[in-house]
Amino acid sequence: MKSKFLFRPLSLTQIIERIEYSESYIDFKNYENILFSSVVAPMLILASIANIFFGFFWGKSLQSILIFTFSFLLYSIGIFYSSYLNINYKYKVHISSFFSFLAISTTIYLYYENMGFLLWFIIFIITILATTRTDKTLIIYTIAGYIMLFTKSFFKQANTYVKFDYLFFIVLVIMIIFIIISSLIINVLYRRILSKKIARYNDLLNQKEEIKESHEKLKQIAYNDSLTGLPNRKMVLEQLNTMINLNSETKTPFAMVFVDLDNFKRINDTLGHFAGDEILCQVSNRLKSIIDSHDLVGRLGGDELALLIRRNITDKMLLSYIEKISSTFEEPFEIQGKFTKITASFGIATFPYDAETGNDLLKAADTAMYKSKELGKNTIQFYQKEMKKNILLKIELENRLIHGIKNKEFFLEYQPFYDTKKEHIVGFEALIRWNSPSHGILSPANFIPIAEETGLIDEIGKWVIEEVCKKVIEIKGYFERPFVISINVSPVQIKNRNFLSQIKNIVENTGVDPSYLEFEITESIFIHNIEAAIEMIKEMKSFGFRIALDDFGTGYSSLSYLTKLPIDTLKIDKSFIDNLNTDDKKNSIVGSIISLVHNLDMKVIAEGVENDFQMNFLKNESCDIIQGFLLSHPLGDIQMHRLLCNYK
Ligand code: C2E
Ligand code: CA
Ligand code: CA
Repeated sequence: MKSKFLFRPLSLTQIIERIEYSESYIDFKNYENILFSSVVAPMLILASIANIFFGFFWGKSLQSILIFTFSFLLYSIGIFYSSYLNINYKYKVHISSFFSFLAISTTIYLYYENMGFLLWFIIFIITILATTRTDKTLIIYTIAGYIMLFTKSFFKQANTYVKFDYLFFIVLVIMIIFIIISSLIINVLYRRILSKKIARYNDLLNQKEEIKESHEKLKQIAYNDSLTGLPNRKMVLEQLNTMINLNSETKTPFAMVFVDLDNFKRINDTLGHFAGDEILCQVSNRLKSIIDSHDLVGRLGGDELALLIRRNITDKMLLSYIEKISSTFEEPFEIQGKFTKITASFGIATFPYDAETGNDLLKAADTAMYKSKELGKNTIQFYQKEMKKNILLKIELENRLIHGIKNKEFFLEYQPFYDTKKEHIVGFEALIRWNSPSHGILSPANFIPIAEETGLIDEIGKWVIEEVCKKVIEIKGYFERPFVISINVSPVQIKNRNFLSQIKNIVENTGVDPSYLEFEITESIFIHNIEAAIEMIKEMKSFGFRIALDDFGTGYSSLSYLTKLPIDTLKIDKSFIDNLNTDDKKNSIVGSIISLVHNLDMKVIAEGVENDFQMNFLKNESCDIIQGFLLSHPLGDIQMHRLLCNYK
């Protein structure tokens, strides 16, 4: 560990203060070293001055005086500055210890003969200083110095300056024992004080570890989805931005893939949220196990997952990779002991072709995924520029639609129903039109789907029912025959819990006899929960409304389930009627539908009758009611009024 010391000499009180408040063990040791050098360095300067005096006093040569005076000065400077060096603490201790070793050696070498016991006293102080250090380095150097000189003086005593006699030897041994014992005592005392400090450092260290751990945990929470454990939206966005930054200069391609589970809402509604969560976890695990190790799969929220492909691969490879991922959905998921099939829609956008910023790339992948849903789900779509255009158009349409509702830009046309036996008009189908100031008159096919998607259909549908009720009352005023007006209701409207109470309210408020109203529903409302749909229809019927099944033959058309449906009228779709003159097979189908429906006590309406052949065929097959351009186009208020006033 490197310390952060720069040279700035500190006073003794400052050093002691810093030792007291040092925040780490390393800091503590560093200041301890500075303290040692701050005490020893001045002592060595004193020694260098003393050397001049003693040198002259004992008659040493000028050369030797100069050499050793400078040596002491050098040791002093060395010890002092080394403790402030910006290097590892251990090296500093070695440097200062080495200088003090040299200082001891030089002192003993120079003054052993002249100073005798006084020298031992100096050595005693140095030893105590050395033992009070928590670090053992200095004491090792000091002991090494003693051993060298003691050995030298012991063996060379005959011809050196040491006068060796027994008394001296005994005193020497006692001195050494005394030094060792007192050093040990001081060291024990010092360490006892220190141990408290060290415990505090360890505490601090543990706290730091804990803080680090909790940071890791927080990071984990902040960047991972708690349900699936996958990287969350934040993480995916960060990784995406990193990819953009890395590749923005080189324009190296990579891809973003949106994965959205199909009909996930239905699973949540029918199997419950726990099952939904379970499926998300299983899907995540399957994705994790199949993706390439370079890629990242994350959960953006809900049933939306994202795959960041951090490799430059061709579109063809990309497609087969996503196809492989998509195929992991083929095996059913086991949820609460039952096997459920789930599919997913994929949208792919590639950097830098489809978008150059993270946000735009996400939008592009989302748009492509959206398209894949539109194309019937369970598909893979690459982003195309036109998709964006279409989405923008949709957004614009939605805004205009909201405006249109506020400005009352809608109106209804009524297309007559013609009874083939009674040979007169028995009712009308109300068909909505939008008179948009910017786009002229728009057909419902252009705006009903978006109204359904955005939920605006509820408000529009309510308005249609109110208008039709008013119309019933108006027509009753001058048209004497019995009639019904049928109203198209979207599956989205019916799913709304308030739908039933809404229509009851309108009828009660306008005072219309419910038997004048027929609601046209489509088969799609039966797919998810046929029982609930049947209950709903029964309730509508019990209130007096009539129910027609619209567009029969286009959807799931199973003749067998017709027997279960409590409906009054069945409308054979225009596509069957269109084929009547050409396709014998279809002719017989239409014939069988009519007779079957009659057996079930329902009336049959044929939609989109455009020519006499169709009309005659249907009459022959005893189709009850005909609707189509052959008899009448949908009519505006004035035309309808005129038609009914002249009606015989
Ligand atoms: P739909 O319920 O099948 O309505 C019949 C459509 O066929 C109407 O188109 C009608 O004008 C057209 N049509 C009738 N006879 C003929 C014919 O002989 N030849 C041809 N080529 N077409 C014929 P429109 O008015 O454009 O309505 C389209 C669809 O919009 C309707 O299909 C219905 O599903 C929906 N729609 C219309 N009004 C409403 C409404 O008030 N609410 C809801 N939710 N949907 C509506
Ligand atoms: Ca209809
Ligand atoms: Ca229809």
